[in-house]
Amino acid sequence: MLVATGAHDAAELLPGLRVPAFHPVTVTHHTADRPPLSEPALILAAGGRGPVAHTMVASEVDPSRTPPGRVLITSTVLGASAALPAAELDRAVRAQLAAVYGTSTAGWELLATHHDPYAVPAMPAPHDPRRPVRLLSGLYVCGDHRDSSTVQGALASGRRAARAVLSDFGAPPDAGSDTTAGNTGTNSVPAAAA
Ligand SMILES: Cc1cc2nc3c(=O)[nH]c(=O)nc-3n(C[C@H](O)[C@H](O)[C@H](O)COP(=O)(O)OP(=O)(O)OC[C@H]3O[C@@H](n4cnc5c(N)ncnc54)[C@H](O)[C@@H]3O)c2cc1C
Repeated sequence: MLVATGAHDAAELLPGLRVPAFHPVTVTHHTADRPPLSEPALILAAGGRGPVAHTMVASEVDPSRTPPGRVLITSTVLGASAALPAAELDRAVRAQLAAVYGTSTAGWELLATHHDPYAVPAMPAPHDPRRPVRLLSGLYVCGDHRDSSTVQGALASGRRAARAVLSDFGAPPDAGSDTTAGNTGTNSVPAAAA
């Protein structure tokens, strides 16, 4: 069995598996009647002047996600500010976005706010980015919580798990080889210590 879920679901399926602390993320979606930018761009807004870490005119990238006749502005808030009450966060986000885009945001509408308290596994030092993916022969686990807290980390852990499966099933050493992975993933530990 290969368990490829987030850390909480994995620990429910595999009791004893380590569950890390998490960082929250909140994503806000505003609509406007005209684009504050005329080109697709991800704007890094971190700099201490507001809670937004990055923002983009999402309708320039994917118009199908946008209400008809409107422009969609999507912004990401990381850290403690992500836990602010929605109305308070909206005020702070609007004020920052007005400065970032150089336009008034007073007429923008808040379409949705999505808060995930368990968005990203924390990686306090010393972080092990190669946690074992093979619990025992026939039982494997992968996901960002076994590697780095990114899509890339989740994919890398899945690659390590696949290699461990192939190895346990006696596949040739070069089966499923990938020169970008750089890890064998064949180490094993008891689930309770994982
Ligand atoms: C708002 C937000 C923004 C982010 N931004 C970035 C970013 O910009 N760049 C970046 O690299 N990372 C970002 N991340 C982190 C990134 O999304 C995760 O690190 C990555 O998705 C983890 O992949 P995963 O496969 O480990 O888990 P997931 O993507 O959570 O996938 C696990 C899957 O398992 C399924 N599942 C759960 N239980 C079961 C079950 N019992 N049976 C079958 N299926 C099950 C779930 O439905 C889910 O589809 C962001 C995360 C969030 C929440």
